[in-house]
Amino acid sequence: TVRVRYAPSPTGYPHVGNIRTALFNWLFARHHSGKFIVRIEDTDQARYVPGAVEAILDGLCWLGMDWDEGPERDGVYGPYFQSQRLEKYRAAAEKLIESGHAYRCYCSLERLEDVRAAQTAAKQPTGYDRKCRDRCDISPAGVTPVVRFKVPLTGTTTFYDVIRGEVTFDNSLLDDFVLLKSDGFPTYHLANIVDDHEMKISHVMRAEEWLSSTPKHIQLYKAMGYEPPVYAHLPMILGPDRSKLSKRHGAVSIIEYKDQGYLPETMVNFLSLLGWSLDATTEIMNVKTVIDNFSLERISKTAAIFNIEKLDWMNGSYIRALPLDEFTDRAQPFLEAGVPEAAAYDREYLKGVLALIQERVKKLGELRDQPELTRFFFYENLEYHAVDLVGKGFTTISTRQALESSLERLLTLDSFTIDAMENSLRALAEELRLKPGQLFGCLRVAVTGQTVSPPLFQTMAVLGRERTTKRLKSAIA
Ligand code: GLU
Repeated sequence: TVRVRYAPSPTGYPHVGNIRTALFNWLFARHHSGKFIVRIEDTDQARYVPGAVEAILDGLCWLGMDWDEGPERDGVYGPYFQSQRLEKYRAAAEKLIESGHAYRCYCSLERLEDVRAAQTAAKQPTGYDRKCRDRCDISPAGVTPVVRFKVPLTGTTTFYDVIRGEVTFDNSLLDDFVLLKSDGFPTYHLANIVDDHEMKISHVMRAEEWLSSTPKHIQLYKAMGYEPPVYAHLPMILGPDRSKLSKRHGAVSIIEYKDQGYLPETMVNFLSLLGWSLDATTEIMNVKTVIDNFSLERISKTAAIFNIEKLDWMNGSYIRALPLDEFTDRAQPFLEAGVPEAAAYDREYLKGVLALIQERVKKLGELRDQPELTRFFFYENLEYHAVDLVGKGFTTISTRQALESSLERLLTLDSFTIDAMENSLRALAEELRLKPGQLFGCLRVAVTGQTVSPPLFQTMAVLGRERTTKRLKSAIA
């Protein structure tokens, strides 16, 4: 059975790359009807960031990645916080010492620094010089040792990676890495393999940056007498300029995407294409399609490019595909954050306004951050700038005349529909010897107080006859 895990360290808010790893594990689990496990790797006390665990779990919930075992969902292999499993790591370290695969190291930090400095000066590779590896004298009193792994000094370590094929590392390049720190906490390497074994993890899918840790893990599995899992190291994610992904490329913590008004279904679709593909062309697909088709064989070896413009485009298409009622539900909080006045209006009116906006926004956050998109729909009294109102090629007198005639037409129209308004006002422009654009521009300012707005007649239809004509009257006055 497939059992995979997402094993974040709560050292900050989860970023795109991190969530992509979670997503691929989740997709793989769901494709195979396996189990998706969340394990919090919180053994680095110094780098622990309060609130990070909550942010990670919120991110998963937002994207609909439900987990079968993990925080708040206890299973038989818990607890799922490494800080609550310290006994297991200590026992494993003890076992490795007894079997001759690990040793206690009493070297002080100062000594390690001196060794490193000397190696650097001699242009040698840096690393622990293995002073304590073969010591047989009495341990120095009052020093709390660390436990180090006895890495084989010669030979190679080979493992198979589903994405990369066979990978081989020279053992001579591996340091006698620490397993247990002097504070009694394990390092990542020890805790990771103990837990992957105890939690019966079948496949380890993680970012490529961990590839160089894998030979250490393979050696540890061997020393412990455990069977290693199947490995798949996911391709890196780069910015369009092929440099390491960063804020500069628009990549931020997953919670910020939520805050900017990207839809979770867009994010799942977009992230699933960072290193995986259905075929050579398909971009938009729902999560079910991704789950049904997800396979390690279609994960690419080469780096994936994170393109925020593609994300925006995709989000715009997801937004336009939403039924209006659903769009209204999702957009309303953003709208009210930008234009608090909107809260006083009824839902039908909101829907009318949002229908116009749905065609135009790429992110729901635009409703909040660009209140000028909608606020004129919700102000009962507009303020006009005379310069705007008296449009190009107009005088004050001809403006007034044009607005008055328009008002008259709008008041007497049989039905206040887009077509009726347009026909009648186009005819009026001709009678007044104005270009339609001139008249409409002036009406736009009168009706919205702005020179830019959604299409004029659609806007007037949403405002309704009463509001529209009231605005014309106050523009004339
Ligand atoms: N805690 C590691 C991380 O933050 C887990 C790496 C792994 O999956 O082995 O990415």
